Amino acid sequence: MLNKSVERKALAQFLDKELQVARFRDYCPNGLQVEGRDEIKRIVSGVTACQTLLDRAVELRADAVLVHHGYFWRGEDTRIVGQKLKRLKTLIDHSMSLFAYHLPLDSHPSLGNNAQLAQLFGFDVSARFGEDELGWLGHVQSESISKLSDLCTHLSSRLGREVLAIGNPDQVIETIAWCSGAAQNMLSAAIESGASVFISGEISEPTVHLARESGVAYISAGHHATERYGVKALGQRIAEEFGIEHYFVDVDNPV
Ligand SMILES: [Zn+2]
Repeated sequence: MLNKSVERKALAQFLDKELQVARFRDYCPNGLQVEGRDEIKRIVSGVTACQTLLDRAVELRADAVLVHHGYFWRGEDTRIVGQKLKRLKTLIDHSMSLFAYHLPLDSHPSLGNNAQLAQLFGFDVSARFGEDELGWLGHVQSESISKLSDLCTHLSSRLGREVLAIGNPDQVIETIAWCSGAAQNMLSAAIESGASVFISGEISEPTVHLARESGVAYISAGHHATERYGVKALGQRIAEEFGIEHYFVDVDNPV
């Protein structure tokens, strides 16, 4: 199956359709962000289109890079200077395309970050909540996980990093809410949904007070750590669909 190729345009069409990009009002353009060569035989995926990922993609002689965090975020300085110039120059000099999928990749029902987290953690999905239904609700399958402390140990072992929890370790866990990345502001919506704990990637100062006052526990499990799985699954899906090569590169990030 390997050594096949796909045209850049066909790949863009496939991805945009699979991820239903038109459904989302996002903070960045989703889809092809930087245009590279016409034929794609090898793709490198990663969480963020940082310089380290691009340098690895050059070493691996990738034709395209697929990420969750691309460029051109709403409100950012639009000038092509400094680190942004260096990153774009790396892509353009090597004729590598950049495909980026943000909210559509959080949301996808099987390949998305939250669907992949459900698989990784062994959660049954029961419902979705919040704006664009970006939040997920469910229950843990394992009967040995009943308290907040059990859940934290479980998540830490599955993610390979310590999670930070705000809440009573002995609190009984019933419905679990989760949303990957920097979704700490969805804690209010998670509380309204009736969850007993909300898991996301980052934490802010006010998150602590809201968790304590509401009695709904909050777990900060890492922005990068909770978003490694969607883009990897999407890269594998493309490789299967078109018979092209795919390498997922994990550029470690403690946040
Ligand atoms: Zn993110």
